[in-house]
Formats: sequence, C-alpha cells, structure tokens
Amino acid sequence: MECQTMLKVDGLSLDYGEGSVLKNIHIELEKGQHACLIGPSGSGKSSLLRSIAGFETPLNGTIYLRDQLVYSREINVPPEERKVGMLFQDLALFPHLTVKENIAFGVLGRDKNAVSKIVDELLDLVGLSDFSARYSHQLSGGQQQRVALARALAPEPGLLLLDEPFSSLDNELRSELLKDIYQIFSEKEITTLMVTHDQVEAFSVADRLGVLIAGELAQWGSPFALYNEPVSKSVADFVGFSSYISATLVDSNTLHTALGTLHCAPVNNAKIGDTLKVLLRPETMGLNDKSPIKAKILKRLYRGADSLLTLSLNNGETFYINSVNRDDLSVGQVVGVEPLVKAVVAFN
Ligand code: ADP
Ligand code: MG
Repeated sequence: MECQTMLKVDGLSLDYGEGSVLKNIHIELEKGQHACLIGPSGSGKSSLLRSIAGFETPLNGTIYLRDQLVYSREINVPPEERKVGMLFQDLALFPHLTVKENIAFGVLGRDKNAVSKIVDELLDLVGLSDFSARYSHQLSGGQQQRVALARALAPEPGLLLLDEPFSSLDNELRSELLKDIYQIFSEKEITTLMVTHDQVEAFSVADRLGVLIAGELAQWGSPFALYNEPVSKSVADFVGFSSYISATLVDSNTLHTALGTLHCAPVNNAKIGDTLKVLLRPETMGLNDKSPIKAKILKRLYRGADSLLTLSLNNGETFYINSVNRDDLSVGQVVGVEPLVKAVVAFN
C-alpha cells in the first residue's frame, strides 16, 4: 500500500548544550501536502528542518519518514539514507560545474543514460533547457535558484525541506518563482516543508502552517485557523495585524465591550464575569456613519489601495481598522463603527 503519511514528528526536543532549542514538537504531513513554518528569528525553525534531515541529533522524540522510523533513542538513520531534499537560501551551486553537471550531481553513480534523461526532464521542468552548458556566474539569481531546485529534485525526494530559499530575490521575481515551483511540487506530488519569514508567501502556498515561538510549536493548522482562530495572543500577534479591547464575559459565548455585544467561542478557563481581551483584526470592524458606536481617528496610514486607521474609543481603548480610501476621512474626526464579523476570538 502506498504510504500516506510522509512525515511524522513526535515529541521532538533538541538541545545544543545551552538550554533547549526545540520543545516537544509534533508535526504530521500527508503525502503531497505543503507546509510552511514561520516564527521569530532564533525560534528554532532551521534547527527543526536540520533535525528532520538528519543533521542534528535530537534529545528526545521520534521522526518517521514514509511510515519508517528514522530517528528514536535507538535508531538514527544518516541524512543520505533519509531521501529528504533540501533547498537553502545559500544554494551553493558548484561554480566549476555547468548547470547540467550541477543537476546530475545528486544522481551520480546511476547509469549514464538514465542520468541524462533525468537531467533533461528537470531542465525542462524548471525552464532552463537552453542554459544547460552555462556556469552559475552566467545565470541570474532566479535562474540559479531554479538550478538548485532541479538539483534537489533529481534524486526524487518524497519530502523537500526549504529554508528561506528565496529571501535573497526581489519581491516580484520571488512570487513568480514561487508560483512556478509550487506548480511543479503539485504535479510531482512532492511533500514540502518551507521556512519563510514572508507571511504573504506562507499564506499563499501552505496547506498547513506552523508558528514556532521560542522552540515551541505554538500552533499548527490551516492558514485560516491560524489567522482567524489563533490559540494564543502570541500567535495572534505574530500572524498578521492585531489589536485588542477589553470585554466582560456575560455568558459562555457572549461578551460586552465598548464596541457593543460580541460573540465568541468558549474561552478556556474563563468564568462568567471575567475580563477578557478581544482580538480585533483590522477587518473585524468597518465604518458606518449610522452606527451608534463612535470612535475618533487617531492616525491614518495611507497604503494605496486602502488605509489603516487607528481609532480611539471614548474610554481610551484603541484599535485598527482597514478602510477603503475616502476623501472625507481625516485625523481627529469622529466616525461610526460596526462589527463586520459574527464571532470574535477572546483570550484570558
Ligand atoms: P531560526 O532558524 O528560527 O532563526 P535556529 O534554528 O537557527 O533558529 O536557531 C535556534 C537557536 O539555536 C538559536 O538560539 C541559535 O543561536 C541556536 N543554534 C542554532 N544552531 C546552533 C548550533 N549549531 N550550536 C549551538 N546553538 C545553535
Ligand atoms: Mg533559520
């Protein structure tokens, strides 16, 4: 039977000898799924990828690839036998080898005709058939990345780990390249786990998104869940824009706030009468002159297509909203606001 679970990380901890770097990580990826990992610098993202690839020795936990145990207390399969591809920002193409030779490097030792066939197919796939005899200094940054990708794909890894592979490319080229390569991943049913510091990038390609904060996987789920149902304030603050107003819990899913009555999912460990914090994304509230809820414009950040307004309520609480650009919006003005969502997220 074909394996469905490509990667399973269970209770993984890592320590470089100066305190823990990864704490009790659980991740599961099905064949063909695309996951992204985001998190502050130094939170352990690269360490997690390196542990999966076999370049670090974890303290605890297990790692399965294609339902096969590759790491536990007793077993440590070396990197070259794990059949995991890796793509880094620092792509390290061999400067003395041509494009064709660089790609072939990953499959050396195989029959010459077979290698030639694999290389030609990959050149075609990444759109570099006409560049096969060039050296890396004769290629643009984007083309070099495509070569590195082809080289990583040559051994046909089931799982490809990508560590901020495109952060040195400019925005336009990056989004173009990203679209192309995820198309390739989908066609070839390659499972991917990519670290990126670009949230837009992460949201646009991920089936599964994880937030790593100080070595802990604070949340792992769909991009929708991470943005709309963050499990903690730290996740909410890391993902997208957030502001908060205080609320009183009047029954298990009803909140009284200065913005009126709002509804929420039951909040862990909260009792009726508790004061909670309500997460307001900039699109949670909208302007409506007829609304009885009034707020004053403190700041207006013009962003081209829209404006980010900082609004202040009578009680001094402030929050952000996105607004279409209107000529009549200016700092100091009082506007009516209304909730645009049925439910909000509240934290204890
Ligand atoms: P990220 O990729 O999220 O920026 P890293 O995984 O590179 O984070 O690093 C996580 C933590 O582990 C950091 O505090 C970093 O300094 C430390 N670290 C990373 N690699 C090593 C190493 N080889 N030896 C000791 N400490 C390391
Ligand atoms: Mg890193």
